[in-house]
Amino acid sequence: MIAAALVFLVVALYAGLLLSIRLRTAHEWVCPKCNRTAHLERLGRPEWMKKLAGFLPLKYIRCRFCQHTFFLPLDINNPLSNEMLEKGNY
Ligand SMILES: [Zn+2]
Repeated sequence: MIAAALVFLVVALYAGLLLSIRLRTAHEWVCPKCNRTAHLERLGRPEWMKKLAGFLPLKYIRCRFCQHTFFLPLDINNPLSNEMLEKGNY
């Protein structure tokens, strides 16, 4: 009985974690907090995220202007960067 309660607790916590990641995921190259596009930088994902939800195709972005951090899908790239041109897939 206690084991079942523990399993339920872990599953609930994990669902909450995934939901909080989902809520912090933006869908375009804009800071959701201050709406700026020019101050965003990509960071390595936090350790907890790599361990618990490393399968999610998300990148971790920080806004240098307001320090807000959020996630973006991998296929959304910085429109101001020439990274795509350098890779040759334009
Ligand atoms: Zn911002």
